[in-house]
Amino acid sequence: MTISFKISDSTKNKMLKYFEDKKRLKTPAYALFQADEEDTVVTVYESGKAVFQGVSADVDAMVWKQFEQQLNPGVKIDEKNSETPKDKKDKPDLIIDKKIYYSNSIGSDEVGTGDYFGPIVVTSAYVGKEEIAWLESIGVKDSKKLTDDKIMEIVPLIIKKIPYESIILANIDYNNKYSEDVNMNKIKAILHNKVLLQLTSKHYSTDYVVVDQFAKPFVYYNYLKDSSNVYRNITFLTKGETRSVSVACASLISRYIFVKEMNKLSDAIGFNLPKGAGSLVDEVAYKITEKFGFDKLKEVAKLNFKNTEKIKNYKKD
Ligand code: MN
Repeated sequence: MTISFKISDSTKNKMLKYFEDKKRLKTPAYALFQADEEDTVVTVYESGKAVFQGVSADVDAMVWKQFEQQLNPGVKIDEKNSETPKDKKDKPDLIIDKKIYYSNSIGSDEVGTGDYFGPIVVTSAYVGKEEIAWLESIGVKDSKKLTDDKIMEIVPLIIKKIPYESIILANIDYNNKYSEDVNMNKIKAILHNKVLLQLTSKHYSTDYVVVDQFAKPFVYYNYLKDSSNVYRNITFLTKGETRSVSVACASLISRYIFVKEMNKLSDAIGFNLPKGAGSLVDEVAYKITEKFGFDKLKEVAKLNFKNTEKIKNYKKD
């Protein structure tokens, strides 16, 4: 899927700043930058054209379109949306390496990094070969497709059998850590390193240690250059939860903990905190600031998200 539209200089500048640390090293001709936002490739051209490509292009395009509309109310956005057969043909099939998939492995994955409300949860899980068939049979194979209800049902079974380590980074701590020098990916790298060190120190018989890739390996290790102890024997895989059962388990356990934490936060604050970072999130966040003051968001939200600015602007209306 490819979506493109023209953006104003103000949005262009915002995007330049936002994608600063997600930029690819190589920039296509006439482009200001090209960057990866999870599964979406974002390119902004000197001409002011923004192009979003990938399976979730619509979600990312929407965020910036809303931004553009907010900065230039009344200006019509001419959006081109195409899902050409060429795109599909160009997309290589996901390669599952059976050697890795059917091994004794430790997998690591995180949750909450795309959610304005709630903590970041990172988990490493150990799966021995002999557990793979059982895990597949209870639904771990299509972990991406599982609903939260299903996750709440099967994860208690999984954690009874499978060793794991999790870290919950509360919003207050996240907001304190986040700065010019410490971005989301650096925080993720530090947390993955921690859970991996904890779990690998327990000496399970492990053939592979797999991390669901969120940054190029050299970038990952560069984030950890100041850490005294770095676990290095990592196989980085994109779409790791499909290519490794232990990554799938790590992803599900993280999600399970995240949902529980969100329920706790919702109960404590008296608002049902929505997941994601869409307009419903802005609405609830705004209500929270009205009731408790802006500072309350520090305890329940990730303030570096674009939502924060939107919520501040809400107030002026
Ligand atoms: Mn992941």
